[in-house]
Amino acid sequence: MDFEYVELELPPGEAPPGRRVASALVQSGYQSLGEDYAALVRRYLPGGLRPPADAAPGARTVDVLIPPASPSARILVGERAADGGPIVAVVAIGRSLEDAHRTGTAAKVAIDTRGLVSGGLARCIVNDNGRHSATRFRTEWLRALGLEHRGDGLGPAGSSRPVLAAQVLRVLRGAPPVLDRPAVLRSRLEATLAESRVPAEPDTLESLAADGLVEKSFVLVCRQTGQVVGVGQDAADVQQAMRVALRCPHCRSPLRDELQDVLYSLSEAGDEFVSSTRWIRRTVEAALRRRGCEAFVLDQRAPGGRADGAACYHDTVLVFRLADPAPGAGDPRAFLEGLRDARGAIRGAAVRGVYVADTSDVEIPAGDAAVPVTVLSSARLEDDLDRLLREVERDNFARLTGMVVALPRPHPGGFLEEG
Ligand SMILES: [Zn+2]
Repeated sequence: MDFEYVELELPPGEAPPGRRVASALVQSGYQSLGEDYAALVRRYLPGGLRPPADAAPGARTVDVLIPPASPSARILVGERAADGGPIVAVVAIGRSLEDAHRTGTAAKVAIDTRGLVSGGLARCIVNDNGRHSATRFRTEWLRALGLEHRGDGLGPAGSSRPVLAAQVLRVLRGAPPVLDRPAVLRSRLEATLAESRVPAEPDTLESLAADGLVEKSFVLVCRQTGQVVGVGQDAADVQQAMRVALRCPHCRSPLRDELQDVLYSLSEAGDEFVSSTRWIRRTVEAALRRRGCEAFVLDQRAPGGRADGAACYHDTVLVFRLADPAPGAGDPRAFLEGLRDARGAIRGAAVRGVYVADTSDVEIPAGDAAVPVTVLSSARLEDDLDRLLREVERDNFARLTGMVVALPRPHPGGFLEEG
């Protein structure tokens, strides 16, 4: 399930603006579940309803509609009060992002063709699926956060599964050195990964080698002592060495009796990748892109800046702090102070802090409740981040649509026809 939305500020008219948008859709063949619901309520309560005296402020859903062209999708029309007058939200829900996009676009066209706004609907759009926030994010809010937008500076691609890559590289870094670098033989790989409970396949090492994070060499290994007795660029080198009449310096056996193997060693690039927070940035980046977010800056901390990155997702500014492997005690506090400053500078969007650390036991001091902070563990970063982004989406959905069905509170006479 995914959704897209557009927020409208309609010129004043006779009916409330949300009602006018819903009617325009009904005229275009959309089925109004709100009308179905009202008809049902009229059957239960022919004597009518008293309007709820304590209707909660904030957004409410005016109608839920089924598009004529895609019966599995839904359009929600929400309405809420704002400083400049009521804002109408048209939310398209589909089975995928593409489905939601298609449904939302069709709804906009349907509203527009009903001539709801003279001069076109585009004039009334105050927020198109968070794009307005994304623009302000790039032009104003990043500077307020002490971040600079200098283009995507994440460097070479690294791995497509950065968390897994980091886990494997950490295992490799802990392995005893062979030929001066921490390394694992292919014949020992499966057991080594299993011992460390890293869910990697031997293929993972091949893709890390392709990315330059791991060096791969073909070796001849002493069958008795396990020591490397020859290194080659490829398997042919090793096979050639096995044909010569030399003996192993350790066990004196002919080289042709020793074992061929592949040695994976941690490259300098791999060591740098796993020691820095670059892989965390890459994971965050991948998760944001997977959810269709392009507005983010992740490694452009300006001097004196307190955040390591920020993203604008669903009209929410996510401020990231990527903790060093052993964060100082003052670190979360400084982050929180930075967030409080950010909250003041970012007007027109929700702000949320995201603190990424090696463990989720980090104590975030109870600070400004207006800025919620989520602590994510780097070991489970992909899952945790997906969960957080879903939560941000749901909060935005609630902001746009509020309460979907307001249950009527009947009075006894309502159950009978009046008169
Ligand atoms: Zn030997």
